Amino acid sequence: MPSGIYRGHPDACPGAVELHQAADGGLARIRVPGGTLPAARWDAVRLAAAELGNGSVELTSRANLQIRGLADGVELGERMRAAGLLPSWSHERVRNIVAAPLEDNQALVDALDAALCADPSLASLPGRFLVTVGASVSGLGGDLGLVGNVLLLAGTDTGVRVHDPVDALVTAARLFQSMRGTAWRLSEVDGGVRKITDHFGATDAPRITPAVTPVAPSPSTPGVPLGRLDASQLAGVPIRVTPWRSVVVPPGTDTSGLITDPDSPWHGVSACTGRPGCAKSLSDVRADVREWVSRPELSDPDGTIGVGARTPQGARQSGSIPRPVHWSGCSRRCGRPAGDVIEFVATGDGYEEIR
Ligand code: SF4
Repeated sequence: MPSGIYRGHPDACPGAVELHQAADGGLARIRVPGGTLPAARWDAVRLAAAELGNGSVELTSRANLQIRGLADGVELGERMRAAGLLPSWSHERVRNIVAAPLEDNQALVDALDAALCADPSLASLPGRFLVTVGASVSGLGGDLGLVGNVLLLAGTDTGVRVHDPVDALVTAARLFQSMRGTAWRLSEVDGGVRKITDHFGATDAPRITPAVTPVAPSPSTPGVPLGRLDASQLAGVPIRVTPWRSVVVPPGTDTSGLITDPDSPWHGVSACTGRPGCAKSLSDVRADVREWVSRPELSDPDGTIGVGARTPQGARQSGSIPRPVHWSGCSRRCGRPAGDVIEFVATGDGYEEIR
């Protein structure tokens, strides 16, 4: 009998065909396992956003893509399938594989993606289920993770070492599926990590510590302000999407409008959708962030800031890696990056700071 957390409803993660109805229209999420998009695929997404959506492509914290303002998912689904971005109708929402963007791991990710899609029993994995591949993304809270031959379970190295990573990850996903009940994540299943560890057998190898190592902005790894690309940007360019609202591009790419300087005030700043896209939002968060970024002279040492105010002194220091700053339109705090983050949450009368 499955035990652990009880979820009274299935997760509602959108896909490329099953849209989420947002305040600004249909929202599609296009899975990009490993984040790699050859130019033709990226162009298919860009053009779909321009011709079917609101003209923008959003990057998510799992290195997927979103298009907003859609009437329905029918034509988008057909276009994505034609472009090779929707290889399985049945498994489209469970292809959640985020990979270290500067490592040579796309072939492994592709093999894992194909193996997941080939197993009918895995089509009903929760949309929240996540697999991480590589060291720099190992701390992103994956249900399963792979670092070399280390198999991470719910973000923990329990001593499992594997020889065939694709087979091991698929086996672990099946075990999770068999015992999850209504749970969405491995960490929610009582004894789930232990049971999978017992299945493989724990070694006495030294344990590793999962970590998150974001890519710093540069001309070949530009950040995307507030994670939103205009459909005209990076036309004809092969890109690799990172989980940090940035992309990896070939040398010499036109990065106009993107963040290439680590000292940019945009570096490390993220925001939820806010108004007008989200009906729950208490503010036009993105407009507030744009004003905040453009007015560095403003600060509020009291910690509770009004619209347009800048983070308190010390949150960002030139020449250092800034702590990420995330803005939300309500207490749900969607899109909050993993790890140590300074947050501003709309209250209806300004923003509350959470450190
Ligand atoms: S944090 Fe609140 S306002 Fe922002 S997208 Fe989520 S639900 Fe909407």
